[in-house]
Amino acid sequence: MSDPRNGGPSLKYRLVTFDLDDTLAVSKSAIAPRMASLLVRLLDEVKVCIISGGRFEQFDTQVLQHLELTDAARERLHLMPTCGTRYYRWEADRWDLVYAEDFGPEEKAKILDTLETGAKELGLWEDVTWGDILEDRGSQITFSALGQSAPAENKYKWDPDGTKKERLRAYAAERLPDLEVRGGGSTSVDITKKGVDKAYGMRKMLGFLQLDQEDVLFIGDRLDPGGNDYPVKAMGIDCVAVHGWEDTADRVAALLDTGTVEEGAVERAAATDDSAAG
Ligand SMILES: [Mg+2]
Repeated sequence: MSDPRNGGPSLKYRLVTFDLDDTLAVSKSAIAPRMASLLVRLLDEVKVCIISGGRFEQFDTQVLQHLELTDAARERLHLMPTCGTRYYRWEADRWDLVYAEDFGPEEKAKILDTLETGAKELGLWEDVTWGDILEDRGSQITFSALGQSAPAENKYKWDPDGTKKERLRAYAAERLPDLEVRGGGSTSVDITKKGVDKAYGMRKMLGFLQLDQEDVLFIGDRLDPGGNDYPVKAMGIDCVAVHGWEDTADRVAALLDTGTVEEGAVERAAATDDSAAG
């Protein structure tokens, strides 16, 4: 690549996009100092997007509070919580919400009522919980059987074979046919508008930044079919699969050193896969 900046080669990609949990950081935890400093270096070179099913508040506590950025670098950082149904970027002196595709009040009330009624009818509404069972993320409503902050051990024991979660998912899907009802974490059921996944967010991002698919590299830990990063790969975007943040850090360091990703590490689906799959 020509036109070296900062002494290194210019990058092959104009936008590098990361999943958050288990890609940039341990799930629900703050990013490590090494990952933070690599992100800062990367933001000197290219635009960076972070896309996750989580809320903006998680982006803030897990990532933003740990990055030492100039305003110019911050303007190159694009944040897509809840799979891109919300988009934030730095505007002058704050994180500006560019858009939010939230549920309307009636739709929201119907979803909350369906989940609570269903959980009670199925005997899944627990008395002992760690935080709220129902969480309103604006564009996503999440049921967590034991509450948002239940210990991992209790969550696992609640439904080791996933049948409880599946019963509630099926109950809600039948009553909310216009919405997407998915099994989330070990005890959770997520409801969003139909067709909202990380590919949805990526298409929005490409439109906003006026980039082509070829300009983008995506790094995530769940690129396997069925994983929540897979829809991005199915679009035909260059993807790199990682196993935890240390792996991601090594990839970013190599990207900064060489300007690209070694060819063997890039997973690329034919762009037609997406349309063929419907
Ligand atoms: Mg992940």
